[in-house]
Amino acid sequence: MQRFTGKTVVVTGGNKGIGLAIADRFGSEGANVVIASFEANVEEAAAGLRAKGMTAIGVVCDVTKRSDVVALYNAAVQRFGAVDVSVQNAGIITIARVEDLTEQEWDATMEVNTKGAFLCCQEAIRRMRPNGGGRLINIASGQARDGFIYTPHYAASKFGVMGMTQSLAKEVALDGITVNAICPGIIRTDMWDYNDRVWGEMLGDYEPGELMESWVQNIPMKRAGEGKDVAGLIAFLASADADYITGQTINVDGGLIMS
Ligand code: NDP
Repeated sequence: MQRFTGKTVVVTGGNKGIGLAIADRFGSEGANVVIASFEANVEEAAAGLRAKGMTAIGVVCDVTKRSDVVALYNAAVQRFGAVDVSVQNAGIITIARVEDLTEQEWDATMEVNTKGAFLCCQEAIRRMRPNGGGRLINIASGQARDGFIYTPHYAASKFGVMGMTQSLAKEVALDGITVNAICPGIIRTDMWDYNDRVWGEMLGDYEPGELMESWVQNIPMKRAGEGKDVAGLIAFLASADADYITGQTINVDGGLIMS
């Protein structure tokens, strides 16, 4: 199905993990995809999508820097004429006991996960409003529902994403722009490799992979998610089938959190 032919989709953190799966899904459904990430290898990721016959460009962008974010959305409009969908996926996590958590970790996490998502929404809205509408989808986390241990800064940053989503949704509802957030649960990516190792060391004598496996046993579906599980929900929220959905936060976690 080619639901997004002629549409331009920006995905931050699109060079790997969940973001790359989202970019791949939109590309496979005909969208012009603009992937942005911190590292210069973003162009390699875009080339990988093009090698599959998709239309994609990569832009190096630190979402915490307004000038980079402005340049990202300008590049999308310059190359493809508009921004129709923007997925705020870039994110970071660290794990530390409260006495050890540094102010730098707190600030960096809020800067990327919350302020970065806001700057992208702001620049996307600036281009969507005059264009008659668009879709903003913010990647929050199960930690926007239920703060996990040793990650107060990450939980705060993701609760922030949910509040921002609701506020923006109200402001742009009459401009044809919907704003929604999603909460992935345990998704196999580099981020979860880090979580498994560090939480595993802090919570017990876990061998690599064991902590993740034990947490997966708490998921009613008894499996970790894959990027494509998240991408399916994002594509739905960006599609015409979701025209009447805004300001919502939706879990995609195999039933881990039911609220
Ligand atoms: P990864 O660590 O695999 O990827 C994170 C992405 O964010 C990378 O592309 C990284 O770019 C990018 N990024 C980090 N900092 C910046 C920055 N300052 N500017 C631009 N890009 C940046 O993580 P996941 O794919 O697992 O996570 C994606 C999103 O999903 C995050 O928001 C995360 O919090 C959220 N999430 C993930 C869950 C999981 O189980 N994996 C669960 C719940 C939420 P680069 O590679 O260039 O550094």
